Amino acid sequence: MAQRDPLQDSTETITLLGNKVAALETDLRQKKEIILAQHSKLEAFFGTSIDAIVQMDFDGYITGWNLQAEKIFGWRAEEILEQTIELTIIPERYREGHRTGMQRYLASGDTTVLNTLIEIDALHRDGHEFPVELSISVIDSPDLQEFIAYIRDISKRKRAEAIIWNQANFDSLTNLPNRNLFMQRLEHEALSCDRSKLSLALLYVDLDRFKAVNDSLGHDMGDLLLVEVANRLKKSVREVDTVSRPSGDEFIIILGQIEDQLAVERICQQLLDTLSEPLNLDNKVVYPTASIGVSFYPDDANDIEILRRNADQAMYAAKASGRNRYQFFTSEIQERAQRKRQIITDLREAVNQSQFEVYYQPIVSLLDGSFTRAEALLRWHHPETGMVSPAVFIPIAEETGLIGEIGNWVFYQASQQVKNWRHQFNSDIQVSINTSPLQWIDESTGMNQWFTHLIEQGIDGTAISVEIAEGLLKDPSDHITNRLIEFRDADIQVAIDDFGTGYSSLSHLKQFDINYLKIDQGFVRNLDHEQNDLVLCEATIAMAHKLGIQVIAEGVESKSQDRILREIGCDFGQGYLYSRPMSAIDFTALIASKT
Ligand code: C2E
Ligand code: MG
Ligand code: MG
Repeated sequence: MAQRDPLQDSTETITLLGNKVAALETDLRQKKEIILAQHSKLEAFFGTSIDAIVQMDFDGYITGWNLQAEKIFGWRAEEILEQTIELTIIPERYREGHRTGMQRYLASGDTTVLNTLIEIDALHRDGHEFPVELSISVIDSPDLQEFIAYIRDISKRKRAEAIIWNQANFDSLTNLPNRNLFMQRLEHEALSCDRSKLSLALLYVDLDRFKAVNDSLGHDMGDLLLVEVANRLKKSVREVDTVSRPSGDEFIIILGQIEDQLAVERICQQLLDTLSEPLNLDNKVVYPTASIGVSFYPDDANDIEILRRNADQAMYAAKASGRNRYQFFTSEIQERAQRKRQIITDLREAVNQSQFEVYYQPIVSLLDGSFTRAEALLRWHHPETGMVSPAVFIPIAEETGLIGEIGNWVFYQASQQVKNWRHQFNSDIQVSINTSPLQWIDESTGMNQWFTHLIEQGIDGTAISVEIAEGLLKDPSDHITNRLIEFRDADIQVAIDDFGTGYSSLSHLKQFDINYLKIDQGFVRNLDHEQNDLVLCEATIAMAHKLGIQVIAEGVESKSQDRILREIGCDFGQGYLYSRPMSAIDFTALIASKT
């Protein structure tokens, strides 16, 4: 056998290999041409797309980059082609995930990202990130293997969404969560309490006398105060707690994950202390104080609505016991609130069901013992609980706005009655009718119709006087001063009720046409053994007389009080000593017996 020449052998091998390489090259070139042809078709299509379209081969290199991609990422195509997608447009924190996701897909075809819409942050050439919406599809044919990402910049939409979300969830004045977000947080906190077996405390924080600041310093200052209060509240609680402003001057705080209630007491005290630090508003120093009501989840209620109501009731209890304090919810508060709710319900029925009656109490002349006037005092015969004191139901009627209707009823009833008495006894008797500030402040309560009513009914204005609280004249609006003038023009007299409890000065009253002062029974009660009260009554009477105002002493119960009042020149007395309030029938008999 002829020996093979090793040199010739290897030359043949090389030639063979060379041919194969050449064939492969041709193959590759053809493939590339196909790919390029396909690409240019795709590119023509992609170029006009409103989405950025980024193509990438299975090794992660960018193979296609349309015009829109240039716009949103800041890279031109020639700069980025042949770079990896990972190092250019994917923020660092996603790179690891991107790599493993891709490896998993290549190994098993397993994927969670293909053909779904994903919201994610992308990286701009200048290093800033921006939100995009992204969907990825894959071409996996023998000719072409690549991923295609359709990417849309959603910065604008996200910004708009953020604004809308903020508006829906935050109070624009203080930037605190509003009612909406507060409710979400509360529900969320309650759920986490269920899991942790801990409590949460709900704090209702209501500013004391906020309206006074608003009215006297103006709304701008009121707003400033609210913003400052919001900051002070936030400063006093932990970062994880929620301070919200659901409405007006009311703030609600959620203290989550509470282990002991003592800690909440400390926080409440801290809140009160921080709030009451002096605050300069328009060159006036104010000391904002608040009343805080607290209820605990789940101890006081495991229903969120009831929990809120409890905290609210506790807050009212804090206000009622003097303001600038906190009050934990108790079962007594609950009972009181229940009674109140019942009264509100029953009060709505009372007018229609004729459960009201006007009583009359004589007002006696201390000069000669005669009586020519009486105070109309409302009585409520409750069908189940019997007589309810006006001291109980009038404040509730004021709070609920029912006072308008009730006050009108009293006025029409009493004016009809005095008309009858004047007619029947040919006397100049006058009935004095109590009014609530709300009837003066809120025009819709119908006080303006009283004047025409009197004219229509032929009732003389002198037959009536109205009693007002001295607080009404502290800083009266034009509307109130005009109404006072209307009363004067209609010959209706005006008395200041419970004088001395509202700290207004007599000289202040000079500017109004006031006919009577009624000295509050609190001063009359101690007249015979409290030097201070005696001096006060004496001075009030002297000053009132100087201003042409007559004085009525309320709550006269004893002979010695009566004697002293005469001695110091008081004009009229009213009280159990002379007569208790009585029904119209009894009062008619009383007048008859005196004439
Ligand atoms: P007020 O206007 O100061 O009426 C005087 C109150 O003192 C009446 O209580 C009267 O019964 C009571 N009183 C009279 N003499 C004496 C006395 O010698 N000793 C004591 N301890 N009390 C005496 P009343 O009838 O319970 O009314 C309480 C308050 O309810 C009234 O105080 C008034 O502010 C309000 N009120 C009563 N009726 C009406 C009404 O029709 N409208 C409005 N807005 N308020 C009313
Ligand atoms: Mg009165
Ligand atoms: Mg009074």
